[in-house]
Amino acid sequence: MENVILVRYGEIHLKGLNRPYFERALLDSMERALSGSGAAVMRGEGRYYVSGFAESAEERIIARLRKVFGVHSISRALAVSKEPGEVERAAAAVMRLALRNNENATFKVNARRADKRYPQNSMEIAKELGGYLLKEFSGLKVDVHEPEIEIGVEIRERAYIYAGEELGAGGMPEGTNGRAMLLLSGGIDSPVAGYMLSKRGVAISAVHFHSFPFTGERAKEKVLTLSRLLAEHCGEVRLFVVPFTALQTELASACRDTYITVLMRRMMMRIAERAAEQEGAKALITGEAVGQVASQTLEALFSTNATVSMPVFRPLIGMDKLEIITIAKRIGTFETSTLPYEDCCTLFVPKHPVTKPRIDVLLQEEEKLDYQRFIDEAVDKMELHVFKREGLGL
Ligand code: ATP
Ligand code: MG
Repeated sequence: MENVILVRYGEIHLKGLNRPYFERALLDSMERALSGSGAAVMRGEGRYYVSGFAESAEERIIARLRKVFGVHSISRALAVSKEPGEVERAAAAVMRLALRNNENATFKVNARRADKRYPQNSMEIAKELGGYLLKEFSGLKVDVHEPEIEIGVEIRERAYIYAGEELGAGGMPEGTNGRAMLLLSGGIDSPVAGYMLSKRGVAISAVHFHSFPFTGERAKEKVLTLSRLLAEHCGEVRLFVVPFTALQTELASACRDTYITVLMRRMMMRIAERAAEQEGAKALITGEAVGQVASQTLEALFSTNATVSMPVFRPLIGMDKLEIITIAKRIGTFETSTLPYEDCCTLFVPKHPVTKPRIDVLLQEEEKLDYQRFIDEAVDKMELHVFKREGLGL
């Protein structure tokens, strides 16, 4: 009997001719995620099997696999030979564990016979094994509609027996859908926005605009931490910290007060697009949601959007703050995002920011400074930090 973890994938099934590419990418990404754990990942028919790990490492391996994009669900299984006696013994062991907290549970057996040479069909396997378990465990009752315990049996190269499954992160494997540039502030929204694109297989580079000394070291540290936390999901985050003080100060002194925030956002977009080109990224990502703040009215979104030609992805556009917070908590960024260090945007916030900025006014204001020079300088001086998911090192 061997402990293995059975990994199922979701959407890759839809991929037709490209399927081997996605399957390979998922395999690679799981191997990277588990590096240092001693576990081996094997590809089977529509499944992966993780094995060869110490029992004490199982929890951590499962926690890690559940974060890998492309993984639909996971089961802790016992792998045995296809000899019926062995299958029964394994099923009893799995059931004993499943009954730990409730001796009088209801159950059913789901059987799947991938090896068509196996003498019994799925129905027969399920029926026989169900009967065996009923005999072995007196408190058990069958319920085929809403069972508390579902015992899975899969007859493949070996037999795999497990109780239930845990959901994974879903999505598409790391890096299978190109690269995008995330505008990462220290707030709640942008890390969630990055997570959502990353989940679709988009590799993440990020820019953070830092206005030292107006925003301190700790504000920067916070964004480095957020990038590290994101990398636990994405695998890797390449973060560029962009010095923004000179441009921001210039805008504040030269331009109309009520337009400062939108002007700043336009500069951010331009710089982000330049950084994206350097990174081979094909789109920008922001954490904006319609109407959340003055700079996120439709008019304001239109005017920041107008500065770039790359597509801008705003995965949170239709979400409420509470919905975003729920995801931030689930992915582990909320606590860091709510640390109280100033963001550069809060510094020069006017009392009455314009909510319907006019493009002609924006262009007029931008004429007042040689912003291209500031942008070149900021891009020139940005500093790269690379964060990778930590090895398990078990
Ligand atoms: P967040 O919670 O992501 O900070 P927010 O609700 O505070 O968002 P804004 O401050 O208007 O909204 O920022 C809108 C978007 O602009 C952010 O989601 C982020 O993508 C980008 N952004 C804002 N400030 C910065 C910054 N200092 N560096 C990089 N991107 C930023
Ligand atoms: Mg913010």
